[in-house]
Amino acid sequence: MNIEREKEKVFQNLIVTIDGPAGSGKSTTASLLADRLGLMYLDTGAMYRAVTHAVLQGGIDPEDEESVSIVARTVNLELRITDGKPHLYLDGRKVEREIREAAVSRAVSPVSRYREVRRAMVRIQRSIGRRSGIVADGRDTGSMVFPFAHVKVFLTADVDTRAARRKKQLELMGISQELGEIRE
Ligand code: C5P
Repeated sequence: MNIEREKEKVFQNLIVTIDGPAGSGKSTTASLLADRLGLMYLDTGAMYRAVTHAVLQGGIDPEDEESVSIVARTVNLELRITDGKPHLYLDGRKVEREIREAAVSRAVSPVSRYREVRRAMVRIQRSIGRRSGIVADGRDTGSMVFPFAHVKVFLTADVDTRAARRKKQLELMGISQELGEIRE
């Protein structure tokens, strides 16, 4: 038996989900795990951020559910493998830096709550999961997006660790916020 070939077969369609509260370390863990197992890392939060970026770029009010839903249904979101890693493209453009901007971070929460937005993202996420083995992180990935995932992880950490991690992430984006406020 060719162990490598057998492993490849098993891993080809493996779906691992990592869910859990903000700041628990989902994306770090998912990305490292994907690397280790040779699977694709699917950052679902980045997809909601990309839709939000498209909404803001289009001058659309994030509170306007109908217009936001149209954007979500019509954007072209793709994961392209370059330099051996998946990169997110929005309508043919790499948007990894733009989607971390403060304006996107502020608007992503209402945008990601709309039913039509979630439906559109879930459809894309499932189609990516059908094409390759993945480690997906983010809300609902184990319960709604991939209820039949082979491995489902719910990752948590104590609230102080989560707050400290989020503070560091915000600082990297040039945003300063009191630890106590983040903790609240
Ligand atoms: O993980 P990240 O902080 O980049 O996600 C950005 C936002 O997108 C989250 O705060 C959440 O509002 C939304 N999100 C979601 N469902 C997911 C992933 C992210 O609603 N599966």
